[in-house]
Amino acid sequence: MSTKGICKNCKYWEQTGATDDGFVGECRRNAPLPGLSDTAPVALMKFAVWPTTGDGQWCADFATRPLSDEKALEKLAMIEQLEAQRKKR
Ligand code: SF4
Repeated sequence: MSTKGICKNCKYWEQTGATDDGFVGECRRNAPLPGLSDTAPVALMKFAVWPTTGDGQWCADFATRPLSDEKALEKLAMIEQLEAQRKKR
């Protein structure tokens, strides 16, 4: 699989932290599942938790993250520039 189709580029992924091996985040593709959390005030309390994945992992439900407004405007400006160049020819 291309590196483009990995969690860090997926619209369902939200970065929550980092490790020595890279960034980690929560997959929000589905509802959270019952699990244990050691980040709660009382260690190992039962919570509904989002699956945690590394930024380089992937699954078959990958979906491209929409462009931010800034990136969309950059692409639009580039298209307009190319169109202007094409018309000059
Ligand atoms: S596990 Fe799949 S759906 Fe969830 S963030 Fe990663 S690629 Fe996206």
